[in-house]
Amino acid sequence: MRDRQAFERAKDLQAVIFDKTGTLTEGRFGVTDIVGFNHSEDELLQIAASLEARSEHPIAAAIVEEAEKRGFGLTEVEEFRAIPGKGVEGIVNGRRYMVVSPGYIRELGIKTDESVEKLKQQGKTVVFILKNGEVSGVIALADRIRPESREAISKLKAIGIKCMMLTGDNRFVAKWVAEELGLDDYFAEVLPHEKAEKVKEVQQKYVTAMVGDGVNDAPALAQADVGIAIGAGTDVAVETADIVLVRNDPRDVAAIVELSRKTYSKFHGLSAWSHPQFEK
Ligand code: ADP
Ligand code: MG
Repeated sequence: MRDRQAFERAKDLQAVIFDKTGTLTEGRFGVTDIVGFNHSEDELLQIAASLEARSEHPIAAAIVEEAEKRGFGLTEVEEFRAIPGKGVEGIVNGRRYMVVSPGYIRELGIKTDESVEKLKQQGKTVVFILKNGEVSGVIALADRIRPESREAISKLKAIGIKCMMLTGDNRFVAKWVAEELGLDDYFAEVLPHEKAEKVKEVQQKYVTAMVGDGVNDAPALAQADVGIAIGAGTDVAVETADIVLVRNDPRDVAAIVELSRKTYSKFHGLSAWSHPQFEK
């Protein structure tokens, strides 16, 4: 507990917004499909992994791991740059490559083909590899819902709290997770700088907590009435949050609310009972 007043506010919570990746899901992706357009699968994976070796995103870790599993060495990258919530770019073998989100592809006005839509509809996270601005392939990845998430949501709903999810990932993945967990609402394809705005929107209606791991969501944690960080998350999450879940267990969010409610009613009960002289 880093902020006692936030803990007191927890008794009044009406909504909890969870970040998806690394919070409701394990945040450990695995590569499931590689589709190359005039590039071999192996070539694509090797280039993507070379770029992603410089990124800290869970998607990056999965792509690098897959390349290692296939015994590929990494190629040198120049002018590397991370684009938060969108992907990475850099120069490999003299050509400019990017590994980016579907949202970024849409921003560029590039149409994607049927095979990509199919992968998304399977609830997979899809990233695009661009070479000199043209799509040369896609990599699909899958994450797992944390086994504790289901109970975490049903416990909160049982005590009258609305449960929502915020994610930069595509809307099909978001829909799949939301349905699996019985969430009341979700927001997909939200860019990092928009996450705090979304929290603000929900706050117009409800006293709101945000739960995240700090990867792109630290401003949202700071904006919420109660900011709750997954302990295994980033240092910035732990520094920004009011409360840190040291066991990394989303079920502890309901425990916090219950503890806050009990503490509050106990203080009131006690003061009336043991100090009747103070009661007017
Ligand atoms: P979430 O909200 O689920 O935690 P992020 O905001 O971290 O997701 O990322 C949103 C999307 O941006 C990812 O689903 C992916 O498409 C893209 N992205 C972010 N970082 C990377 C990366 N290092 N490589 C490829 N794609 C990335
Ligand atoms: Mg995240």
